[in-house]
Amino acid sequence: MTKTTFEHPKAAPGKPAHGAGGHPGACPHGHGAAQDGTPPLRLIAWEITRSCNLACKHCRAEAHTEPYPGELTNAEAKALIDTFPETGNPIVIFTGGEPLMRKDWPDLVRYAKSKGLRCVMAPNGTLITPEVAKTMKEVGIERVSISIDGPCKDTHDEFRGVPGAFEASMRGIQYLKDEGIEFQINTTVTRGNLGMFKDIFKLCEEIGAVAWHIFLLVPTGRGAELGAEIISAQEYEDVLNWFYDFRKTTSMQLKATCAPHYHRILRQRAKEDGIPVTFENFGLDAVSRGCLGGVGFCFISHTGIVQPCGYLELDCGDVKKTPFPEIWKNSKHFNEFRNQDCFEGKCGVCEYHKVCAGCRARAYTMNGSHLAEEPLCSYTPRKAKKDA
Ligand code: SF4
Ligand code: SF4
Repeated sequence: MTKTTFEHPKAAPGKPAHGAGGHPGACPHGHGAAQDGTPPLRLIAWEITRSCNLACKHCRAEAHTEPYPGELTNAEAKALIDTFPETGNPIVIFTGGEPLMRKDWPDLVRYAKSKGLRCVMAPNGTLITPEVAKTMKEVGIERVSISIDGPCKDTHDEFRGVPGAFEASMRGIQYLKDEGIEFQINTTVTRGNLGMFKDIFKLCEEIGAVAWHIFLLVPTGRGAELGAEIISAQEYEDVLNWFYDFRKTTSMQLKATCAPHYHRILRQRAKEDGIPVTFENFGLDAVSRGCLGGVGFCFISHTGIVQPCGYLELDCGDVKKTPFPEIWKNSKHFNEFRNQDCFEGKCGVCEYHKVCAGCRARAYTMNGSHLAEEPLCSYTPRKAKKDA
């Protein structure tokens, strides 16, 4: 699976965009804000196929190269696209598996564009040829994210599980640059690459990425076997504090994705620094919630099952049986995620809940419930301290 972390490419200071970072429930442009209080959907990660040409160690989909049964047909996929605008004005991330493994991807992107939707893509980069990059440009892909997990071929290929993956991704990036398509780099943080972070960042700068998104490993699928690679709550705290400081040293867009308590750390550190948490100072991080699953973001699987995100296999509805906008509005799980009272443990009483909410996928895999407290947060909420 390719990581699905994007912000709107054209976000400008003072103009929060519709993206992973938009404030749930308060669309700055007023698009799609439902009268009934359903938050507008900002970002859809759509797994147009689960097939993939790589075998990455952390893959939540445990994808393989053969086609998977039950994939939405072209007609079903287009009927689904027709419903997207009813949920808000979401950016659609075409993801996988490896989205380029699906033959009709250009047709689907073209169709989504014709409905006024912004389209980005999350391929692994190895299948991008000059022709593919040209087609991306033609059909209107606005940004491409490529996952790089090590600063060189040895480290990246080891993580990806495929020799030659690094060089193939770098070639793909060059083709994107030749077409003038902007790209961002996504990196999964593990114990194995923690020490290489500065080098990975340098690489992002050298190759001209517009953004670098770090992503905290969620142990599902193949990632569940990487127990020793999962960093501890303290290491997590340290890396997010490092990220807060590092962010000040570069003009590149940096984002800690699926690291919900970064939004708590940012506020704690900003308070210490005497800096107000405003869009001007912190960009979309100032107006966003850490975990947007079910409140501004959702994942649709290759067969049409809607989930809060790709790492949380919680069946919220099947688009083959229920219209997608109804699922977004009425799903029991999505409504749970929109209400702090449904949360358990620390996250249920935490004063940072509105801006954080903890990773629901980690709560599910490591603590057994999607509403349990985030297992990798070392913070004790004020109320929990009082009750202790
Ligand atoms: S549940 Fe975790 S992995 Fe999924 S969107 Fe929320 S923070 Fe990200
Ligand atoms: S206790 Fe939960 S809501 Fe509070 S900062 Fe930690 S993860 Fe976030």
